[in-house]
Amino acid sequence: MATGSGSLIWFRKGLRVHDNPALEYASKGSQFLYPVFVIDPHYMESDPSAFSPGSSRAGVNRIRFLLESLRDLDSSLKKLGSRLLVLKGEPGEILVRCLQEWKVKRLCFEYDTDPYYQALDFKVKDYASSTGVEVFSPVSHTLFNPSDIIAKNGGKPPLSYQSFLKIAGEPSCVESELVMSYSSLPPIGDVGKLGISEVPTLEELGYREDEQAEWTPFRGGESEALKRLTKSISDKVWVANFEKPKGDPSAFLKPATTVLSPYLKFGCLSSRYFYQCLQRIYKDMKKHTSPPVSLLGQLLWREFFYTTAFGTPNFDKMKGNRICKQIPWKEDPDMLAAWRDSKTGYPWIDAIMVQLRKWGWMHHLARHCVACFLTRGDLFIHWEQGRDVFERLLIDSDWAVNNGNWMWLSCSSFFYQYNRIYSPVSFGKKYDPDGKYIRHFLPVLKDMPKQYIYEPWTAPISVQAKAKCIVGKDYPKPMVLHDLASKECKRKMGETYALNKKMNGKVGDEDLRDLR
Ligand code: FAD
Repeated sequence: MATGSGSLIWFRKGLRVHDNPALEYASKGSQFLYPVFVIDPHYMESDPSAFSPGSSRAGVNRIRFLLESLRDLDSSLKKLGSRLLVLKGEPGEILVRCLQEWKVKRLCFEYDTDPYYQALDFKVKDYASSTGVEVFSPVSHTLFNPSDIIAKNGGKPPLSYQSFLKIAGEPSCVESELVMSYSSLPPIGDVGKLGISEVPTLEELGYREDEQAEWTPFRGGESEALKRLTKSISDKVWVANFEKPKGDPSAFLKPATTVLSPYLKFGCLSSRYFYQCLQRIYKDMKKHTSPPVSLLGQLLWREFFYTTAFGTPNFDKMKGNRICKQIPWKEDPDMLAAWRDSKTGYPWIDAIMVQLRKWGWMHHLARHCVACFLTRGDLFIHWEQGRDVFERLLIDSDWAVNNGNWMWLSCSSFFYQYNRIYSPVSFGKKYDPDGKYIRHFLPVLKDMPKQYIYEPWTAPISVQAKAKCIVGKDYPKPMVLHDLASKECKRKMGETYALNKKMNGKVGDEDLRDLR
């Protein structure tokens, strides 16, 4: 085996060939290239069938999406004369063994701001530099390097979107030519005795294929991501007129937004490429919408949350998090389980939670509704518990974005108008008066007449019988009375805000006018 001229590209996110600077650098001038992915038990459920409310480990839909993405990456690498080397175990230990066994001279991986990877990368880099291995870890998951923005803002992350935009300016990728493909990659050297495998199946990871009655319609992988991007932006007028708050959250056959989030989460799609495509369309069109509501503005929301998350210790907790209001949330496992399991008795809320479980994706405003209902709108349950359920079930689950949005929706940070509560009845009705969305995701209500579909408990018993859905037997009664519950929540939020203000001044109240 030739030694000393091998590079290792460590895929974690960034599951793509296009615009992948770590891959580009690793392949340059190397005699051998080792493309590695480590199946990390940290993200896997030890018993995937036990779905406890506290578990935030990856649910079966997201693991399936990941495996599809890995298969697609493997197939792209094979076309270039390489392949994906899959290993299983604690990634730090595995990486060290790979570096030792293969006598690699260069280790390349995409920079990651999540605390889990920060800690892991620190250990791996430490080992690499002590043994003379060159490390290349470029920022390519996001448009900006969060550290640069924080430095420009005097060492603290900007806490409002508008101030973020002012500080951030244009990302440097706007001018750069991205490497989108290769004619070939260096071959793989001798892999020695390390336990390399093909991309595993769900069963091999302990998940069951029959665990889901209905699977997410979104397939993982770079090829799907690029197809979806092309389709999403083929209608330039749609792109130019995109206004997020005007989208219909109940549109499920043709969602009102791109559904590119799971592809961005796993890095099957480069956010920089997406950004450049949007810029090109904006140049071609006379008029287009602007941030925060435009499509490009959505990508910048992602950047905003990545930056605040990176610059805020304990971002994923209420305690010890300087930008998070300290709110005395209620502990109620039964209520949490009812919300999680689509048993609140409010069809709009329950249908959204079914979509989450079956598809792993819902429209942004649908996420607003269920997050508000769980926290400051009705149940007064801790945002961290809702966050865990999303973290497990979303296929686009993203540490910075999920935590940031949960704080937003619970009025714990960023947004503070706690008097504005989503009605679990009238909000959905505005978009979908016939209740098509509810009928699809909650078939028990499919025959309920439209005037009762959002409030089936108000239907006369004869109507319920005719619709084959008796409330209290076939479908639950509402778990709270929204008018009373929301009034009580507002009262508690008012008290808590007053107390927080007395104790902490106005930390985080930088700008209350952000629109999304
Ligand atoms: P589009 O509207 O097509 O937007 C394009 C891209 O912009 C998205 O793919 C996403 O990467 C980014 N984006 C859009 N909206 C936001 C936003 N509000 N914040 C940050 N980035 C955004 N999004 C996640 O990607 N992962 C999560 O874990 C996540 N958790 C959420 C939790 C709650 C409580 C709420 C209210 C929102 C959450 N979001 C999360 C944000 C948002 O709902 C999704 O990004 C969006 O619905 C994805 O659909 P899309 O790709 O069609 O979005």
